[in-house]
Amino acid sequence: MVKILYVVIPCYNEEEVICETARQLEIKMKDLVRKKKISSKSKVMFVNDGSKDSTWEKIQELHQKNKLFTGLCLSRNKGHQNALLAGLLTAKNYADIVISMDADLQDDINAIDEMIEKNSLGAEIVYGVRSSRKKDSFFKRFTAESFYKIMKFLGVDIIFNHADYRLTSKRVLDALEGYEEVNLFLRGIFPLIGYPSSVVTYERHERFAGESKYPLKKMLHFAWDGVTSFSVRPIRLILNLGILIFVISLLVTIYCIVVKLFGYTVDGWTFLACSVWLVGGVTMLSLGVVGEYIGKIYSEVKARPRYHIARNLEEEHD
Ligand code: UDP
Ligand code: MG
Repeated sequence: MVKILYVVIPCYNEEEVICETARQLEIKMKDLVRKKKISSKSKVMFVNDGSKDSTWEKIQELHQKNKLFTGLCLSRNKGHQNALLAGLLTAKNYADIVISMDADLQDDINAIDEMIEKNSLGAEIVYGVRSSRKKDSFFKRFTAESFYKIMKFLGVDIIFNHADYRLTSKRVLDALEGYEEVNLFLRGIFPLIGYPSSVVTYERHERFAGESKYPLKKMLHFAWDGVTSFSVRPIRLILNLGILIFVISLLVTIYCIVVKLFGYTVDGWTFLACSVWLVGGVTMLSLGVVGEYIGKIYSEVKARPRYHIARNLEEEHD
């Protein structure tokens, strides 16, 4: 049985690109239907993320002309990740598989064929990975690649050079619904969900019109969200620093007392030096211990699902 595919595309002020994107996707979708790779009920779902230009009017127009296109309109601008989540969780009610991509076609739509192929071989998440960043500026490439490395160092399981171009099955999206966190960093959540996954590499193009909706400030904010939503390692670093400074403070105290006993000090120095080091050491250590508890509270509050069952033989009958 061929699957119903929904392509979810968040759009914020994309009036310059949306018609061309729709044109290219229409060709792709028709081709896939013709080759019997996807069902004819498949659709392209644009999510209007509170655009201030005519994006939503264009989406409605596309929908009227061709039912291949459908749309969601958010009440206001909620940011890329929230718009994407809204699209994914809505699309899963109609689709068997969902692919998310950006409105500017920087991600090569020809990778869709391979994604569907990998899905038919059993992968429930297929990550689109950029084969190179030659088209990106040196700055963008450097900051982006450093970010992936820092995330790895902080113990976060993310796919190198993968953004939000991916195929997911309905079962994965049902699991995603269990992640109720507000500070969304979707590319960190999918590896947590698990299930068989695969990777498709593609060449990333330049934006063909309009400008990036991710200026440096938003990008840094997003990266920081990624770190703080997925890693308690910064707190652990503070605890380690606290232990180190506390041990040093004990050594310094011993040193001060020894120097005092040999009479090489001015009056009051021993008391002051010991006070400064001991108070500093104890404060740093306490901060680390408190941080550990905050780290625990943070993961409890997120209330992420603790597991997802991939198979249950009890429910499988031959
Ligand atoms: N986007 C969105 N809401 C926002 C910002 C961006 O839905 O508040 C969408 C945007 O329309 C595009 C995608 O997110 O489809 C990625 O944005 P962009 O291509 O500008 O980012 P870049 O490729 O420059 O990192
Ligand atoms: Mg882009």
